[in-house]
Amino acid sequence: MDELRRRYLTQQLELGGAEVILGGVASRRSSGAEEAGDSGGSAPAHTALPKWLKGAPPIPGPGLAITSADPVLLGNDLATLPTLEAVAERIRTTHCCGLCAGRTNAVPGEGNPQARMVLVGEGPGVTEDATGRPFVGQAGKLLEGILEAIEVPRDSVYITNIVKCRPPQNRKPLPDEIAACIPYLHRQLELIRPKVIVAMGGTAGEALLGVRKGLGELRGKVHTYNGTPLIVTYHPAALLRNPNWKKPTWDDVRIARQLLDR
Ligand code: URA
Repeated sequence: MDELRRRYLTQQLELGGAEVILGGVASRRSSGAEEAGDSGGSAPAHTALPKWLKGAPPIPGPGLAITSADPVLLGNDLATLPTLEAVAERIRTTHCCGLCAGRTNAVPGEGNPQARMVLVGEGPGVTEDATGRPFVGQAGKLLEGILEAIEVPRDSVYITNIVKCRPPQNRKPLPDEIAACIPYLHRQLELIRPKVIVAMGGTAGEALLGVRKGLGELRGKVHTYNGTPLIVTYHPAALLRNPNWKKPTWDDVRIARQLLDR
């Protein structure tokens, strides 16, 4: 097969994968084993790459390396809270900034306390505020499809946000709101100690890395947060507005997925 055709096929596969997976019909996709002809009979399963890995970009080079502020130095006792549930209870019972007064429910985060992957969004939306759970609205459905596509079940990860209370009209959280709330996230990450962190959207990437650089500059590198690899990608809600960002997001999450296996 000539190089041009190989590239063409690879590109089709990638675009096809992004469409199938991010188009919300992930459950209808075939498994890698089926693709290799292993439908209960002939081809040996060990020859099949997982479908998500086909055409995935290689793990990129290093980006920023940051060390977060110790939660204890931030004028509170978060570092003494021994469990994620204790942190969640503190979040639910404390008003740390102006957003708290407007909440129906605080949304501390949820998932596996031993998660190998933590995903961080911007802040709760209307459905999250109503339920107290992160990413349960439309963006959450898309996120679940993405996770399913990289063969990472939602209940195996931990999902949370930079701010734990809904900003009015879903506006971006302000710098002082982020500063007041982010110690909770630092403590959550300290307790979970995941293998990889995925920051979804520029707000999450900038807040976690403590920089103002924008998504364009932060994508495509493996940053480190207290030594843990951190990938920045688009926010799922942005993909609902602009489907052109699905393909780069698909590449980013496949990089994050590869870091899980490293
Ligand atoms: N968007 C976010 O950033 N977080 C949520 O929990 C839901 C939507």
